[in-house]
Amino acid sequence: MRILVQKFGGTSVATAERRESVASKVSEAVHSGYSPVIVVSAIGRSGDPYATDTFLSMVKGICPDLPKRELDLLMSCGEVISGTILVSTLNSLGLEAVLFTGGQAGIITDKDFGDARIVRVEPGMILEQLAIGKVVVVTGFQGTTEDGQITTLGRGGSDTTASALGVALNAEAIDIYTDVEGIMTADPRIVEDARTIDTVTYNEICQMAYQGAKVIHPRAVEIAMQRNIPLRIKSTFSDAPGTLVTNMCPARGVGTDITTDRIITGIAHTPNVTQLRVLTGDVQDQHLTDKRIFKAMALADISVDFISVQPEAVLYTVRDEVASKAVKILLNMGFEPGVVPSCAKVSIIGAGIAGVPGVMADMVEALSDSGVTILQSADSHTTIWVLVHKENMVTAVQTLHKKFRLGV
Ligand code: ADP
Ligand code: MG
Repeated sequence: MRILVQKFGGTSVATAERRESVASKVSEAVHSGYSPVIVVSAIGRSGDPYATDTFLSMVKGICPDLPKRELDLLMSCGEVISGTILVSTLNSLGLEAVLFTGGQAGIITDKDFGDARIVRVEPGMILEQLAIGKVVVVTGFQGTTEDGQITTLGRGGSDTTASALGVALNAEAIDIYTDVEGIMTADPRIVEDARTIDTVTYNEICQMAYQGAKVIHPRAVEIAMQRNIPLRIKSTFSDAPGTLVTNMCPARGVGTDITTDRIITGIAHTPNVTQLRVLTGDVQDQHLTDKRIFKAMALADISVDFISVQPEAVLYTVRDEVASKAVKILLNMGFEPGVVPSCAKVSIIGAGIAGVPGVMADMVEALSDSGVTILQSADSHTTIWVLVHKENMVTAVQTLHKKFRLGV
């Protein structure tokens, strides 16, 4: 059996016309000899009647702290609705389809409601249905605990469902269908001349996704990478080849991403972060003070990023919505943190950055020529990050896209 996983995002299933485009992608797969397993997201985005955020807003006004277990039951409904409608569409077009919830599809997760991790997949029921020629549709973004509680996998979780099924079923490929023609050199909503990337390595795309390119969830990339299953990002609405994500490099055809001759692959951005600067002073055992700060953040479930430890200070960022909580904790610990709200992290990503001198200098020069102040910076062998004021984010992304000649 040649299994192909096809995942369709919220915008792809939003209208009857779009669902017909979905059906024709499924039909093409069947006619090419594949047994397709379809993963579907909830319909539309926030504000749309059956979008997950819309469901959440319905209970928020009544009970702001409904337990996460109940929230997960609610959040799992969007995919059940879109899955049922898609199965109806497929059946009406003569493609016999069957719908499974995440749990029925054998996706077993831990008990971290709202952000559960898949611990294993038992694909027996899917395989049985494929064997009798059915198209299997699975609701994305959800699973079940060992004891049968419904869980959800966090934002972008349908991508993770698709990858986990692809691995469990040893699929030939995992196709992520969305409303853009592939992974682009920057978010096309910000950069007009962003270009679709033909081939990219798992590592690069993982970095881009972690740094905010929300076209695919980083966890999904990691899962596919573990078993080397090709991932393709494509448009539901065109026949463009999209982006192929593998370990292969366009430059030499084999090997790791180190061999690519492309320096910068893309630019990503994450808005809405707050920079905190804590002066720890000239204390003895500063590392203990630093540790105390990060432990306090972890205890409060606040994730920190962009950490920079300096001789008498610690700098880090948190998401805007938890900033006041973080500040309160620091004040209670006796610190008076400096707070810069509404920042954005802008990153350039490329396997070719390592060992190429002057990339950081080019970045700093371009941003300063465009009047963008850099609040903080950091780098690794594949990524350089800068923190800027949010009002400079779009300029920063556009400037860097131009500077590194990533456009069409
Ligand atoms: P879906 O509902 O299909 O999962 P998402 O909204 O999660 O769709 O992802 C697609 C969106 O990701 C695009 O509409 C695009 O605006 C955004 N995006 C951000 N960065 C990139 C990028 N580098 N390449 C392509 N799309 C990107
Ligand atoms: Mg998505």
